[in-house]
Amino acid sequence: MEYEVISTDLMKNEDERKKFDVWIVFFKDEMLDSLRDMGLNLEKVISYLKASGNFEPLAGDVSSLVFVDGQAIVFVGFSPRTEERDLGRTLELMRISGGLLSDKLKESFKRSPKIGFLLPRIDNKEVEIKLLATNVEGILLKSFSDHYLKSKDRDKIGHPLNAAKITFFVPHPFTTAVKQELHQVITMVKWTNRARWLSNLPPNIATPTFIANKITEFAKDIPSVHVEVLTEEECQKLGMGSFLGVTRGTDEPAKFIKMEYRHENAINEKPFVFVGKGITFDSGGISLKGREGMERMKHDMQGAAVVQSLIFCVAELELPIHVIGITPLTENMPSGRAYKPADVVTALNGKTIEIISTDSEGRMILADALAYAVKYLDPELIIDVATLTGGVVVALGGQAMGLFSNDEQLARELLELSWMTERAWRLPLWEEYDEYLKTDVADFKNTAGMVASPVNAARLLSHFVDDRPWVHLDIAGMAWDPPAPRKKYLGKGATGAAHRLLTRFLIRKCEENH
Ligand SMILES: [Zn+2]
Repeated sequence: MEYEVISTDLMKNEDERKKFDVWIVFFKDEMLDSLRDMGLNLEKVISYLKASGNFEPLAGDVSSLVFVDGQAIVFVGFSPRTEERDLGRTLELMRISGGLLSDKLKESFKRSPKIGFLLPRIDNKEVEIKLLATNVEGILLKSFSDHYLKSKDRDKIGHPLNAAKITFFVPHPFTTAVKQELHQVITMVKWTNRARWLSNLPPNIATPTFIANKITEFAKDIPSVHVEVLTEEECQKLGMGSFLGVTRGTDEPAKFIKMEYRHENAINEKPFVFVGKGITFDSGGISLKGREGMERMKHDMQGAAVVQSLIFCVAELELPIHVIGITPLTENMPSGRAYKPADVVTALNGKTIEIISTDSEGRMILADALAYAVKYLDPELIIDVATLTGGVVVALGGQAMGLFSNDEQLARELLELSWMTERAWRLPLWEEYDEYLKTDVADFKNTAGMVASPVNAARLLSHFVDDRPWVHLDIAGMAWDPPAPRKKYLGKGATGAAHRLLTRFLIRKCEENH
């Protein structure tokens, strides 16, 4: 999608106005005067839309396509709902109206239209520019399409917005601020969608080798990201017995990918390290899953896809920051060589784990990735993202990811931000839960079954971060639809859960330190 931001002054020129196939007008009642000043008399159509119950100028609402003097127009509500003045809620409504708008444009245009977005007036710069950008976030998330594996659709461009040219008209003093906000949101969603694409790919295509090659390829376009791919042999030398336990059962070679981006004026001396679970297909291994829904286990690498996208995203935004992404990638398969219940493995930090279920493989590969981060990267903080437990789906459904942390401030920062982006809810990480992980034969067992399974999994991981400030995000309920509810701005398949939250988190870190 191409875009430009220009001043509303140009709107006064009628020839200029007529160049567009459709106008998207952000509207609240206070804007009528500004629209009239531009020569747009929209009172009548607005009263008509309101009277017919077709449109309220409130956040979340989008009008049908109307024609005024032969010009196609869609109105987008821009007032916070009186009963919901809360900013996080209003932002979510703007995301939803973005999704509705995206669908509307897809219905109305077969080819990519020339679109003019008009925000006639800005009363509160901080908030209203955010509302506009969040609407665009919803539009772009919903425009994501990847149906190219259907042979008849192979040559289609997908959503008409993907190749559209969009011009944003905003009042003159705000063009720079809007440009900056849009640049952030468009880059962010581009990489969210890249993670969704990777996650949606079938597991016979998106193998660890394929993903490693793709990441290396993307890094050619963004040379500030350094990629290092460790083979199983190299992981063996480092002593990653826990990761290699899982990799044994599959014929697909596993990969352990390290990505680093370091800005020369980074705000942080020690890196922020992100770890993502990358099981490219989870059969459960010897503790084989039931056949029902097993095809969805291609998404079990979404934590890795999100972390990889995050590193590219902040590099493309050139944030003044130092980040490292660690993504262990493997299939989890049964075979004569597969690890099995009662096996004991030794992780990189020397701790031993008894296998109870080979289907609790996510924590096995994360344990070594976290221990690697602590031993070799001296992180200022660690955040891991994983489709880790069915238990978190039972507890929170698709409405929030589970958040666990050993650091009060870090947890608070993320929770507060999550209300503005993607919701997270904190669950306990009390050491009392270690009781459930006790076994006679090793330091820990890898699962205690159904009892508090998201907490016990998090608790096991906590033994591999050595008290570094750490957050674990269990995105199992949020990562794909179903169980994630079909949000009007997401649609089917992978959601790229936590990518937007973490991008915003890093942007805010940079803003605070400016
Ligand atoms: Zn599993």
